[in-house]
Amino acid sequence: MTTVSYLECSLTGKRYEAGKLWNLSEAGGPLLVRYDLETARQAWNREWIPNGPSSMWRYAPVLPVRNPAHIVSLGEGMTPLVKTDRLGERLGMPKLWIKDEGINPTGSFKARGLSCAISMCVELGVKKVAIPSAGNAASALAAYAAAAGLEAHIFMPKDVPQSNYIECKSFGANVTLVDGLISDCGRIVAERKDAEGWFDVSTLKEPYRIEGKKTMGYELAEQMRWTLPDVIFYPCGGGVGLIGMWKAFDEMEALGWIGSKRPRMIAVQVEGCQPVVRAFEQGDERSTFWDNAHTVAAGLRVPKPLGDFLILDACRKSGGTAIAVSDEAMMDAGVELAELEGMFAAPEGGACVAALRNLLASGFIQKEESVVIYNTGSGLKYMEAYSDRFPRS
Ligand SMILES: *Cc1c(COP(=O)(O)O)cnc(C)c1O
Repeated sequence: MTTVSYLECSLTGKRYEAGKLWNLSEAGGPLLVRYDLETARQAWNREWIPNGPSSMWRYAPVLPVRNPAHIVSLGEGMTPLVKTDRLGERLGMPKLWIKDEGINPTGSFKARGLSCAISMCVELGVKKVAIPSAGNAASALAAYAAAAGLEAHIFMPKDVPQSNYIECKSFGANVTLVDGLISDCGRIVAERKDAEGWFDVSTLKEPYRIEGKKTMGYELAEQMRWTLPDVIFYPCGGGVGLIGMWKAFDEMEALGWIGSKRPRMIAVQVEGCQPVVRAFEQGDERSTFWDNAHTVAAGLRVPKPLGDFLILDACRKSGGTAIAVSDEAMMDAGVELAELEGMFAAPEGGACVAALRNLLASGFIQKEESVVIYNTGSGLKYMEAYSDRFPRS
């Protein structure tokens, strides 16, 4: 079972007790969960993992839930790692894979984070949860809250994709559409949560969503027989998936499962909202608020990620980069991926394909390198964005 040991402030390193409800640290930093990896290393063998559940919960020793009865699972994780032969051939790349997170419950990798966060809410006695969301996190929260019998309060921009709105309503959540961005939604949750008795499950403002998302890194290593690719492309909104994978790699090294070599981490953003790219290019440690954020890739419309310093650190330390593509190139690549691979990706996944093309052209990536792209969601969640491409006369 879990080897959770304590929580640690990502800014100051100060320790916090596990098994209690926390949001941010006193210094305002996200809290990271730490495990007794030495004990895990001795008691756990990676050869046993395939005997575990066919979900991300096969990694339970490095997830925070103490009592397995508290796990709320809808079958999240263990998504396919698809070898893209036809796209690879077009790009001249023999070693190109896509990890297809669109296969998850509620059609995006947000299911991983919310499965873990809601399980911890059950363990710690939370009854009411609230979330500001660009869309997919809300859908996942609503689904897991429904499965756990918790009350869910959701705040989304009023132009959120229709799929997210309908899903949340169907799952029985209380939905408020806000005239603004996810940052405005976050402010409303922060203002109201104490009076309403809500636990705030905003990205990185609680410690457990990142733990669920980090399993994308564990699974990749398992699926690649305990090796990692040369390069990873990740569509970066709040950046939690990227931060989580980076954490998973360190944990796996401590477990003795992989060596010290890391993939170059590429944070992919869009031209209409690229705070991380700007900070990367200016050599800054933190990003600044991106004004007038706009893109059809709802998951990437995050004007100021809370964990920006962790994203930038992983991109820099790994020798990776941050890059923005246009909405048009992103949607073109989404359709191309569908045509060539039979995979109907979220625009966010298309953004990574477009970014790969740019970095091949610039010489940052060599054709023979092994590359994994994360398609973080299903195209089925984005009917409005794709309908523009295929008007029904
Ligand atoms: C939320 C979301 C993202 C961004 O995820 P982060 O890990 O927070 O950067 C990317 N793609 C999709 C489809 C999303 O829903």
